[in-house]
Amino acid sequence: MLVQGRLLIDPHKPPVPGWVRVEGGRIAEVGEGDSPALPAAGGSEAIITPGFIDAHLHLPQIDAIGCDGLELLEWLERVIFPAELKWGNAGFAQQQIDEAHQRLLRAGTLGYAGYLTSHGHGIGGWIDSLRRFPLRATAGQVLMDRAGPPALTNQVIEPLRGVPGDRASMSVNPRFAVSCSGDLLKTVAPMSAGLFMIQTHLAESKRECEVVLELFKECESYTDVYERFGMLTQRTLLAHAVHLSEAEWRLIAERDSVVVHCPGANTFLEAGAFDLHAAREHGVRLALGSDVAAGPDLAMPRVARSMIEVAKLRRILTGQSTPVPSPAEAWKMITRGNAEALGWQDAGLIEPGARADLLVLQPPFEIDEHLIGRLIYTWRDAMIAARIVDGRLIDVPAVENDSPVTAGRFPGAAGNGVD
Ligand SMILES: [Zn+2]
Repeated sequence: MLVQGRLLIDPHKPPVPGWVRVEGGRIAEVGEGDSPALPAAGGSEAIITPGFIDAHLHLPQIDAIGCDGLELLEWLERVIFPAELKWGNAGFAQQQIDEAHQRLLRAGTLGYAGYLTSHGHGIGGWIDSLRRFPLRATAGQVLMDRAGPPALTNQVIEPLRGVPGDRASMSVNPRFAVSCSGDLLKTVAPMSAGLFMIQTHLAESKRECEVVLELFKECESYTDVYERFGMLTQRTLLAHAVHLSEAEWRLIAERDSVVVHCPGANTFLEAGAFDLHAAREHGVRLALGSDVAAGPDLAMPRVARSMIEVAKLRRILTGQSTPVPSPAEAWKMITRGNAEALGWQDAGLIEPGARADLLVLQPPFEIDEHLIGRLIYTWRDAMIAARIVDGRLIDVPAVENDSPVTAGRFPGAAGNGVD
């Protein structure tokens, strides 16, 4: 399959007119100039970009966006736990996972790292859904044994297993130190065994940090809790990290763990303004996440915009001349940057051998040196003219049509894609 357009190989440089040949789920060839044959997607005015990757989201929370006015711990109790309890019904869980995958594809997110609930059957439902919607993904059962309703905390921990195909993998997801006893946290590093990713939350709100230090009195800091249980690895994603001391930044940098910045969520719950400058100064690996449902938006260009705006506000309010990420840097984070953070070496790239997870964009403006800024600040899903997932063109309804899609419209389920 040929795809024609201006190739956004490096967002810091102007896109190059050219084409991409896709074969067997990967990019086989990249060329400049006119397409050698009739393209299956795109055109001379289209922009071809790697698909977006979201480094932190919660599948069971997609219908819980916008429940405003609560502090993190109160919000979990009053909004999130009731939403996650609904997965007690396996049929409902399956339906919501499918719906989440459809919405992600519609938003141009072709890969993600996420959380299920603490129900064991969620894993089977998730694996089934990935057969129909072939996103690249890592996700796991939420581990929690306290500070929540019994139906979520009295869980049976499912063993980690391989996921059919090579597009997805399970991860170990202790929710956060508030809802995990020391006995539970002890199991995380052995379960991961250095192979499976660990995903958790760290220092999101001030109240949460106070509770954690009361629960783990022997620990020097919140980050030290995870350190003592061997959870800070190169394959660990720490979401938020809003309230950290110098020593905690240094420790995370030493362990080479990834901090996932979730700017929309931090603003929504008024958790705090992430110190992007400190993260960079300490050389901490960074990723960017929507954190739906604390984050209000699945669309990664709008999460990128939120990151830039928070950095600008921080600069205004502190009076310090700290650098603000450029649109090109932000675009790189939601594509190649997040791929690297998740250890997906062949993702987020337009080059031979890379995974063919691409978006064809038709921006409604002339292409000039402000291309990426215009995309980020005026983003609408309707700018996506085509989605190529695992090397196949997939069909999702326009963003205006919010009715559910039938699974049969996807090539993974019905084989009706264009190869
Ligand atoms: Zn989260």
